[in-house]
Amino acid sequence: MARIVQKYGGTSVADVERIRSIAARIKKSYDEKNDVVVVVSARSGVTNELIGKARFLNPSPNDREMDMLLAVGEQETIALTAMALHALGAPAVSRTGGQAGILTDPAHTRARIVSINAENIEAALKDRNIVIVAGFQGVNAEGQITTLGRGGSDLSAIAVASAVKADLCQIFTDVEGVYTADPRIVPDARKLVEISYDEMLELASMGSKVMQARAVEFAKKYRVVFEVRSSFNENPGTIVKEEVVSMEDVVVRGVAVDKSQVKVTVNNISDRPGTAARVFHTLADAEVVVDMIVQNVGRGGRANLTFTVPRDDADRAKKAVEVVLGEIGGGTVAVTNEVAKLSVVGVGMRTHSGVASTLFTALSENNVNIQLISTSEIKISVVIDLARADEAARAVHEAFGLAKEA
Ligand code: ADP
Ligand code: ASP
Ligand code: MG
Repeated sequence: MARIVQKYGGTSVADVERIRSIAARIKKSYDEKNDVVVVVSARSGVTNELIGKARFLNPSPNDREMDMLLAVGEQETIALTAMALHALGAPAVSRTGGQAGILTDPAHTRARIVSINAENIEAALKDRNIVIVAGFQGVNAEGQITTLGRGGSDLSAIAVASAVKADLCQIFTDVEGVYTADPRIVPDARKLVEISYDEMLELASMGSKVMQARAVEFAKKYRVVFEVRSSFNENPGTIVKEEVVSMEDVVVRGVAVDKSQVKVTVNNISDRPGTAARVFHTLADAEVVVDMIVQNVGRGGRANLTFTVPRDDADRAKKAVEVVLGEIGGGTVAVTNEVAKLSVVGVGMRTHSGVASTLFTALSENNVNIQLISTSEIKISVVIDLARADEAARAVHEAFGLAKEA
């Protein structure tokens, strides 16, 4: 007998047929005498649809009301999943995030989990119930409903697995595991048997939405080993765990593409101390998270400063910089929407050289221009033209020999 947490994402609960099918899978695990806690997402498309309705009525909806709205998606699924299990003769109880004891900070729409009081889940398990928890949501200290950021059901699952000390945490999704690249972009991407937390975290942060980055961060911190696998078949997935020495033999583990950022260029500003500080100060005040940054070598006392920000924050970033233009020597602010960030990730980069040269050669042979570059110990990212991004990902994947063996 083991204690198992299973998370089912949006496509795995997309309609009543899919819910019936996962209910059978859940019941099978329960019948094998396991304690089973299930975390579910909203049906695929529901969260986007709710956001669309909110924005239709109000371009900048109130964050508390937004959470009140978005939590509805997951609540539909917990109830339907419990009903499907009842129909199969299995005892199941649904719990909202708050009822499951998930306490968060007050930051509506991007709340962090502060603690989980698992008493309620434990009591239900003790009575041999299957517990169905709504992903993506919790409550703050005032009892207000909060949500955990897009893709946040992954975080709910990892945090619940940690709180109930699960023996196994399975993330069921619509692909068979973590691949060397998004299989929808790179058809010959290969499923990985295992991957380290750090690599998974970089891939997730760099745009691979197979796992939410914050969920991976949490798993690393609390050492929750988890498996990403398909809810559509029985094949084994990818184990995400602590790094082991042999992982360094592989230089590049995977390629990620992020199409969610835009490039902002502040042109023709004074090339003197304090200018960059002023720009990034005003952006921080506007709560814009800046990612890649490049300042060109100044000429004639003038310089250009370029950085990337989330697409949704582009207007806010532009306005914030325009306010301080006078103080930094005039100039203009331009936003380029048509960009993508391509990254290669691998812990082996710490001990191997030549990664940058292979990456840049692959891009140049395909005539893809590099606009910005940034590196970390286990990652190199470049900003390129959005229209060439998928093609570039395929070329880079090939150049690093990541494709399936024929
Ligand atoms: P869920 O609804 O189950 O949470 P998501 O749509 O959030 O599923 O994430 C799964 C998707 O992630 C896949 O359909 C795939 O297109 C995408 N993806 C991006 N990068 C990768 C990768 N490296 N490996 C596997 N899937 C990836
Ligand atoms: N339903 C939420 C979203 O679409 C959370 C999740 O699916 O993980 O972002
Ligand atoms: Mg997801």
